[in-house]
Amino acid sequence: MFDDELGRLVVDMFATMYAAEGVGLAANQIGVDARVFVVDCPDASGRHTVAHVVNPVLEEPTDRELVTEPEGCLSVPGAYGDLARLATVAVQGVDRHGDPVRLVGTGLLARCFQHEVAPRRDRLRRPAVATRAVAAARGGPAAGLSDARAAVSGRPGAMR
Ligand SMILES: [Zn+2]
Repeated sequence: MFDDELGRLVVDMFATMYAAEGVGLAANQIGVDARVFVVDCPDASGRHTVAHVVNPVLEEPTDRELVTEPEGCLSVPGAYGDLARLATVAVQGVDRHGDPVRLVGTGLLARCFQHEVAPRRDRLRRPAVATRAVAAARGGPAAGLSDARAAVSGRPGAMR
C-alpha cells in the first residue's frame, strides 16, 4: 500500500478538497476504499495543519469537554447542522511512507479529525452520543449507528 499509488491518491485528495473549499477529506467518501484522510485546517489558535494520515485512529482523550457548533459535509450539499464534538482530540496513524504520525487538534481541527476519522457513523449526534462516536471510530459498540448527515458547500468548516 505504501507506494506511488498512495502518493498519487494523497495528491488527488488535496486537489479535490481545495476545489471544494473544504478543510478535510476522507478517501472513502470519494469512492476510494482506503483509510486515508487529508486536512488543511486551522486549530483554535488559527495555526493551520496541512497533513495526511493513513490508517487513522482517534485517541481516547482524558479531557472530554464537548463543543457544539455547526458542521457541514461536502458530500451532502444543502444540509448543515449543530454537532457536539470533543474540544481537543489527537489522531494517530502513519504517513504515505509508513512513518508514524501523531497530530493533536483543537478548535475546528479537532472537529475535522472527528469528522474524517469516523465518517458515516457520527454525524448530527447529540452531546450524550457524541462521545460514542469515538468508540465507533475504534470499532466499538456505537459502530452501527445511522448515517445522518450535515452538509454545506463552500462554507468555512465544511468537510467531506
Ligand atoms: Zn464529510
